[in-house]
Amino acid sequence: MIHGPCGTLNPNSPCMREGVCTKQYPKEFKEKTEENTNGYTMYQRKYTESVRVGRHDLDNPWIVTYSLCLSKKFNAHINVEVCAFIKSVKYLYKYVYKGHDAASIRFENEKTLDHDKILLFLDGMYVNAPEIMWRLNEFNLSEKSHTVVRLAVHLPDQQAIVYQDGQEEEAVARSAARQTTLTVWFELNKNDQDSHNYLYTDISHY
Ligand SMILES: [Zn+2]
Repeated sequence: MIHGPCGTLNPNSPCMREGVCTKQYPKEFKEKTEENTNGYTMYQRKYTESVRVGRHDLDNPWIVTYSLCLSKKFNAHINVEVCAFIKSVKYLYKYVYKGHDAASIRFENEKTLDHDKILLFLDGMYVNAPEIMWRLNEFNLSEKSHTVVRLAVHLPDQQAIVYQDGQEEEAVARSAARQTTLTVWFELNKNDQDSHNYLYTDISHY
């Protein structure tokens, strides 16, 4: 489970774009796992002695994250990532729908290669029977089912506010005029007897 190598060791690696690795290898050594708010979690990578892999000496920053259990069970390269952010969930769904890797290989004696790109593409489409039926019937590949609304919970006058440094007063004034789902809920209960029949968590439904 080694990435590349790329970077200065191999500037022509397919992962390289404008001189940097698009997968951000080699990673940094890390004593502790850290969250990364806009991308991959930065896992613990303790300092290790490098080992000889092919023509290069490589160490912990080059290791693609994996689960030993899964790799052994399926005898395959399996990259395992923590899915803690919306972006990583989208990444997962992309893999479900992007189709399978396929290669079309042909041995020929003739010197001139008859390269028919369209035919190669057609021959290279491998789709299994359930997927064929699914696509022929034009069933949806994805759908949205419901919306999740996060209801505010806070003590009186202790709702969270967001402000830039130096703009605290404006932010307080702004939030005084703004309602939260909880303040609106109390307001509704004051003015509407019917609303007493519903819990806070059910009110957006009704
Ligand atoms: Zn790379």
